[in-house]
Amino acid sequence: MTLKEYRRKRRFSVTPEPEGEHSAAAKHAKPLLYVIQKHQASHLHYDFRLEWEGVLLSWAVPKGPSLDPSVKRLAMPTEDHPIEYASFEGTIPEGEYGSGTVMVWDQGEWTPEVEDVDEALEKGDLKFTLHGKKLKGSWVLVRTGGRFGGASGRPSWLLIKHRDSFASPKDVTIEQSRSASTNRSLAEIAQAEGGDVAKAAAGDGLTAKKPAPPKTPARRRPHQTQGKKK
Ligand code: MN
Repeated sequence: MTLKEYRRKRRFSVTPEPEGEHSAAAKHAKPLLYVIQKHQASHLHYDFRLEWEGVLLSWAVPKGPSLDPSVKRLAMPTEDHPIEYASFEGTIPEGEYGSGTVMVWDQGEWTPEVEDVDEALEKGDLKFTLHGKKLKGSWVLVRTGGRFGGASGRPSWLLIKHRDSFASPKDVTIEQSRSASTNRSLAEIAQAEGGDVAKAAAGDGLTAKKPAPPKTPARRRPHQTQGKKK
């Protein structure tokens, strides 16, 4: 658990994302934070994060979580993030790592359902309970044999809801698409934080679906002529 890779990818003089505490002492205060950030970058995805050993363990979930226990959602491990990242909502500037709009889609706490979290992570089978504003109840993150990004890539995990009273066929990413912390849409966040509103808006309400086809190509002005100076 280290923030080396997280920091290497970012220029903190440019991006408003937190750099994270440099103190060596890992914070291990209870309760443990849980957050999902909806991130409209080059592709819309949901960054699933669990506090552990002073950092936020992170997985990118392209389609977001599903409340349906029969649905397995691909979760790709990404670099550990600083604890302070859990409340980050805003715009990452163009040209920076992950440039686009970030929304705090869900937030709360989590509790392990296993005795030894490190051992569960090592085994690739972590069962836990979420106490979020949107997601609750029992879940599992399980590592598969597959890898993404080729044979040398990181192993893929799956995020799956367990059967309990919080399971549902409803698409929570569609029905509760707004920020859990400010109730803003991605477009509203981009608008307020100086981001690309049109790009952000593409992620509003289109989760778990293919992106809408591009609109009618921009028409040329009828009077436009080439190679002529005014
Ligand atoms: Mn992301």
